[in-house]
Amino acid sequence: MERTYIMLKPDCVKRGLMGEVINRIEKKGFKITNMKMMNLDEAILREHYAHIADKPFFPGILEYMTSGPVVAMIVEGENAVLGMRTLMGATKYEDALAGTIRGDYATSTGNNIIHGSDSVENGEIEIKRFFGPNA
Ligand code: UDP
Ligand code: MG
Repeated sequence: MERTYIMLKPDCVKRGLMGEVINRIEKKGFKITNMKMMNLDEAILREHYAHIADKPFFPGILEYMTSGPVVAMIVEGENAVLGMRTLMGATKYEDALAGTIRGDYATSTGNNIIHGSDSVENGEIEIKRFFGPNA
């Protein structure tokens, strides 16, 4: 079984969409094996988003991701990394298809409801970043 790191972002929590998104993950057959609500600080976000830290939109992402709690999850299942990326939909607002989580609920590329790891290797790194080295 593969696992991935999933995070419901502050807009998902604020808009009351946690249940809706969790429902889609579970209905697809993925198992949530760990879950916690937490507030993120700048240090963990600079690590997690190191690949976009030099982008002009990064200060806005920092502000958004610290604007309220997130829900961190470990999600397991067959091809969980790619499967969750498909369920989530594309990063770019205009590319996220209807029927995907982002396609149905994102209000912009920045405010896009959910994070999912982009590879098995990064999934393991992110799980340990948010759930500790023994996770
Ligand atoms: N992002 C943005 N503008 C962009 C690209 C990314 O605001 O042009 C934000 C968006 O919230 C995205 C996050 O930065 O989810 C991380 O970017 P990444 O390329 O890793 O996309 P993801 O893996 O989340 O689809
Ligand atoms: Mg990414």
